[in-house]
Amino acid sequence: MGMPELPEVETIKRELAELIRNKKIKSVDINLAKQVKAPKAKFLKLVQGQKITAVRRRAKMLIFDLQNGWHLVFHLKMTGQLIYRDRSGKLAGGGHPIKYGDVKDKKSGAKMGSLDSARDKLLINLPNKYSHVIFNFHDGSRLFFNDLRQFGWVKLVDKEELNKIDKEFGVEPLEKEFTFEKFKELLLKKKGKVIKPLLMEQDSIAGVGNIYAQEACFCAGIVPNRRVKDISNAELKELYDCLIRILKLAVEKKGTSADNYVDAFGRQGNMIEYLKVYDRSGEKCPRCRNIIKSMKQGSRTTAYCPKCQR
Ligand SMILES: [Zn+2]
Repeated sequence: MGMPELPEVETIKRELAELIRNKKIKSVDINLAKQVKAPKAKFLKLVQGQKITAVRRRAKMLIFDLQNGWHLVFHLKMTGQLIYRDRSGKLAGGGHPIKYGDVKDKKSGAKMGSLDSARDKLLINLPNKYSHVIFNFHDGSRLFFNDLRQFGWVKLVDKEELNKIDKEFGVEPLEKEFTFEKFKELLLKKKGKVIKPLLMEQDSIAGVGNIYAQEACFCAGIVPNRRVKDISNAELKELYDCLIRILKLAVEKKGTSADNYVDAFGRQGNMIEYLKVYDRSGEKCPRCRNIIKSMKQGSRTTAYCPKCQR
């Protein structure tokens, strides 16, 4: 199972920022109370009638700033979606037409995202039984918070609580503060640890998850179970460069559509075509043509090339 990571959440953020910034929330439909981490009456009172002044991202979370100083914080977890529809109910908005079938399944070669797939049917028929929270804007447009498996949530927090959440997370890898020196310092603090799971520790580097940690290790030629203390300075530099490069490419490609991730328009991301090892165990390594293997790391499966990664 894949969870939206930094590039996927960043994609949704950029699109939503254009679509809903300065829009006023007329009403909210809460169809499943447990997806909202606030008492319902308080939530409705503080959210309805408010203008969204900014849409931001922190780690894998989306944040909507409200005019009254409160904030909505979303975590999509495994299968959450935030889908925008204009007043006519069109799939498209902001000049971005929806294109189905753009992404090929890497195993079968078949086009994914055809109108026949169950996932796309869910996107066309909105709201549906997975639309647990719906934001209705004054201009008739709507934002659907869908979640098949119901692990996602939206919190309503004030400034103080938001600061508290912010402090639980580490450096943002696409920000200027993420220098090589900073990267090294963070890793060497935990130098007895194994590298790939360490890249995913949110209190060190924020937003990197299972997909991009695997890809960064492959890119740098580092086997995912090496301990930080056994990695040379030159290799760390390579890993740092790889991580930034991969995350930037993934943002450009609008993320990886594993499982239910789609962008704000209901489109799949295109990054899956650029992934080298993720979910490719048993296939040929794109670099050396040897067979890609996998290892268990905690509850996660990590794919790697035994020849290219040492
Ligand atoms: Zn290889």
